[in-house]
Amino acid sequence: MPVGSTAIPRSVIVVGAGIFGVTAALELRRRGYRVSLFDPGPLPHAQAASTDISKVIRMDYGADDLYLSLMEKAFAGWDEWNRRWDEPPYHETGFLLLARRAMAPGSFEHDSYSLLTQHGHRPQRVNADTLQQRFPAWAAGCYADGYFNPRAGWAASGKVVRRLTDQAQAEGVVVREGLAFARLLEEGSRVAGVITRDGEQHRANNVVMAVGAWTPSLLPHLGDVMWATGQPVLYFRPDNYAEFQPPRFTVWAADIANTGWYGFPAMADGTLKIANHGPGRRVHPDEPRAVDAGTEAHFRAFLRESLTALAGAPLIASRLCLYCDTWDGNFWIDRDPDRLGLVVAAGDSGHGFKFAPVLGGLIADALERKPNAFAARFAWRPRGPLATEDARYHENGQGDVAWR
Ligand SMILES: Cc1cc2nc3c(=O)[nH]c(=O)nc-3n(C[C@H](O)[C@H](O)[C@H](O)COP(=O)(O)OP(=O)(O)OC[C@H]3O[C@@H](n4cnc5c(N)ncnc54)[C@H](O)[C@@H]3O)c2cc1C
Repeated sequence: MPVGSTAIPRSVIVVGAGIFGVTAALELRRRGYRVSLFDPGPLPHAQAASTDISKVIRMDYGADDLYLSLMEKAFAGWDEWNRRWDEPPYHETGFLLLARRAMAPGSFEHDSYSLLTQHGHRPQRVNADTLQQRFPAWAAGCYADGYFNPRAGWAASGKVVRRLTDQAQAEGVVVREGLAFARLLEEGSRVAGVITRDGEQHRANNVVMAVGAWTPSLLPHLGDVMWATGQPVLYFRPDNYAEFQPPRFTVWAADIANTGWYGFPAMADGTLKIANHGPGRRVHPDEPRAVDAGTEAHFRAFLRESLTALAGAPLIASRLCLYCDTWDGNFWIDRDPDRLGLVVAAGDSGHGFKFAPVLGGLIADALERKPNAFAARFAWRPRGPLATEDARYHENGQGDVAWR
């Protein structure tokens, strides 16, 4: 909207104040829109995928150049936030990627290593000996190869959402905590706003639905191309947690494309998070969130083999966190072709948080139909053969997803 214009700024309701929603709200506000942000709250919402103590920040994406390039842009944003925020959100501990066998073309570790090198980054090769010297917590003889990428780490995701929500409010976004979306306010093929659970109508020129794993249940017409998948996260507090802190213990992935295992160094309070980037279990987002029986035993079996000193560590908490899985593992950020005025920003497929610094721009560009070099991958698309992001483990390892 031209500076000095007397036109009434266009309005947008953003539904969902996770990382997709809050970054979209902030960016649209900065582009001059009147923005309201709706979420049942309290924020950051305890059940939101974005709300956690940490998320991996990596550009290691196998042979996928698009996500690596998009992450290079996002890293500039994380550095900027670290410079400007009182509490730097991004902790560059580095990322250790381990492979059971020698890295071979086609493997996630090999392809990530070579693409990073092609992009001028300097991942450091790790073999069984250097692993013992540099990262002694890892059991000898389990991992023959791998690399350490110093340009990676973790971010305090829940704190980031809180900080950005405060920023958005300070810049004029109307944050409506306690307001829950019930359905679209449709007038013919146009979406004229939303109706909230209290029956109120809220009108706007545009609606951005950024409700993560709730998307297929709140917008059932997307139920064929995305679904909610429950993923277990376990939090331990080893007595000797100082031994599991950088530089000798960093963010890690252990043969992730074949096992799903990844985790974090111990936090300042000793909390050490481990999770599995695997098939998970299809769920309804409003059903009780409990990890399956046997999950702890499954995690401890992995620890007994790979991180022996952690196998008996006290478990202090667990959580079932939800992915909004798309059929191809790519985000879903686009205007609805059949509903004028509606933008859907979802489909994180378990790997969206790290792109926080660039998500708002992607979503605002989609709303404004502005050209964006990355947009085509996230555009509205018919369902095809199931696939996932390269780091993701599928039970049969054959590439086609086994959790239908
Ligand atoms: C176990 C796990 C581990 C992960 N690890 C990583 C990682 O290491 N690195 C990484 O980059 N990504 C990771 N991710 C993915 C990352 O968390 C997501 O990509 C990201 O948080 C998705 O954000 P979102 O805004 O789409 O959804 P959410 O954060 O879930 O936000 C959705 C919001 O919608 C709101 N909402 C729901 N219903 C309504 C309604 N009716 N009305 C209004 N609002 C509503 C909710 O309250 C919530 O605040 C992980 C995800 C999981 C589950």
